Amino acid sequence: MNNFSSDLLQQFDRDETPDGVVIRYGRSTGRVAPGDLDLLSSEERGRVAAFRDPLRSVHFATAHAGVRRCLAGILGCDPAEIRFGRHPCAGCGRARHGRPYIDRPRTRWEFSLSRSGPHWVCAAAEGVRVGVDLERVRPMDVSSLAPGVLSAGERRHLGEVPPEFRPAEFLRCWTRKEAVVKASGIGIEAELGAIDVTPGQDCAEVNHKVPGCEFGSWSVTDLPARADLISAIAVPARS
Ligand SMILES: [Zn+2]
Repeated sequence: MNNFSSDLLQQFDRDETPDGVVIRYGRSTGRVAPGDLDLLSSEERGRVAAFRDPLRSVHFATAHAGVRRCLAGILGCDPAEIRFGRHPCAGCGRARHGRPYIDRPRTRWEFSLSRSGPHWVCAAAEGVRVGVDLERVRPMDVSSLAPGVLSAGERRHLGEVPPEFRPAEFLRCWTRKEAVVKASGIGIEAELGAIDVTPGQDCAEVNHKVPGCEFGSWSVTDLPARADLISAIAVPARS
């Protein structure tokens, strides 16, 4: 199966696709729940402590604890037991922004995490590369952002959309691109304008070949809309 049908899209609400991609959404209430910090690694706690904005720190801690709980449920282990690692970035070779993976326990499950403000989403799949991105819909100057981010076809598409819907449509393109970039493992240096995500189609096959990545074609689809949120998921296209 190459794409997710609308039938499959509805399955996302039940948090699992028939392809076996598990999706979990979460939201920070603005306070760290008891026990959350105990689940985090020393590296994660270091990052929690490094935020200048206490609210952003709480959002980070809540998301990372939530992802640990989600993955622990899948792996059948303790959330605090999980050790994460990062593959080298497919673009520059550095590990700092490479694709994250589960180092311990040993597993074939792959995962991807995205946060936007208090919201987070985690996608996980066994033996399948996955990238997910989430953005809050917010006012933005789309006309100044679009040239650096969108392809010519995407800009044309945006021009056909009523102005009030352009920020959401821009973010739809953005989350699709980010989902592909995260799945391919190239990190922040990807040339987003060169990744055409065919926003006019519910599900798109997106070509994005990165050195060192065995996949060059991705199935990209939007996740069901939640209030003020836009998110997309990418997995290798099967052909
Ligand atoms: Zn890089």
